Amino acid sequence: MTWLIAMLGLVACGNNGTGDTGAAGLDVQPLGSYTTDTGGLTGNIPLEIPDGTSSVLVHCGDYGYDVLGTAWDIKDSSGAYYYTNQYHDAYAATQMRVGNLDDHLPVLFPVSPDHDISSGSWSINAWIASGGTPTTVDCEAIYRTDPVGSSGTIDLNVVLVGLDGLGLDASTAADDADLQAALSYAQDLWSDAGLVIGNVTYLDFKGNVDRYSVVDISDTDASEFGDLLKQDVGGTTRAMTVFFVQEIADASGATVLGLAAGPPGAATVTGTSKSGMVVTTADLRDAPNEIGLILAHEGAHFLGLFHTSEKTGDVQDPLSDTPECTEASNTDGNSYLDRDECAGKGADNVMFWAPAIDISSTMTADQGWVLRRNPAVH
Ligand SMILES: [Zn+2]
Repeated sequence: MTWLIAMLGLVACGNNGTGDTGAAGLDVQPLGSYTTDTGGLTGNIPLEIPDGTSSVLVHCGDYGYDVLGTAWDIKDSSGAYYYTNQYHDAYAATQMRVGNLDDHLPVLFPVSPDHDISSGSWSINAWIASGGTPTTVDCEAIYRTDPVGSSGTIDLNVVLVGLDGLGLDASTAADDADLQAALSYAQDLWSDAGLVIGNVTYLDFKGNVDRYSVVDISDTDASEFGDLLKQDVGGTTRAMTVFFVQEIADASGATVLGLAAGPPGAATVTGTSKSGMVVTTADLRDAPNEIGLILAHEGAHFLGLFHTSEKTGDVQDPLSDTPECTEASNTDGNSYLDRDECAGKGADNVMFWAPAIDISSTMTADQGWVLRRNPAVH
């Protein structure tokens, strides 16, 4: 789970699993069920990566909101380690990054052009940290097999959850000037990355509007967020699903403006706690561009991008062309890097940990390389 927090008015921060029947350009392969050993490991799960594959999304679950899972290791077709968890705390030393995620684990690779993949027999060993209790998960692989160009299209399922107070529903959304301004601003931010918003499908939320129009979360419990993402909303499978809600209410009192599953999200997979993202509309009428910034930032998390530098500067993304803002830049002694301290070191990037409107507006070639490879993009 990753989120954006409002500070002083600025923004801070399915397929059906029945075999290779996914959308054209996707090869969907069920991997079967795996039960973890007492150490929490699934053991090697074989992956047969088809020729021409540009990205792989493996996902396993569900295992509950009180349990974290991650990739323990990934081996390529030569048997060499493509990733191992021994580097988990020193991302600079590894060619990819994998988060610790509750309930459902999506793993996406490659996440850097420095470490592209090849076809053949790979394997992944997942770790479900359930305290020694054997846990059974179902896993599936999605291989993106259509070509990746210099421009990619992301279709959106925009789900409107209890927004009658704004006069906003599936019948009015396409003509709502503020919502369209938000989408347009997000499009501008993604243009550096060669990512284009394609078809937008507007959907009225059919589930429990009373429960989900205000999403309640806390530092230790994001189950309401995850449950919303599990809802069947219809729409297009090869797309990114964005739930627009009234508000995300954080128990700490912080104003959270957006939340994305992951990174990465379970792209093209429906019915999991990692199947989309949530954006609040609290500021839609006053500041539609901020909504657009949230959509662009959180959407990029969903599609596989990390912050250029994390909040304290101790962890960097796995991309070589993004600026780094390290702990050494923290000159005021507080607990995080602010935009002034990171000027010229990533504060102007959409994936700065605390992006701001009119400041954080750039993306790099490597970020675009990752975004355009995602299975949800075509
Ligand atoms: Zn973020």
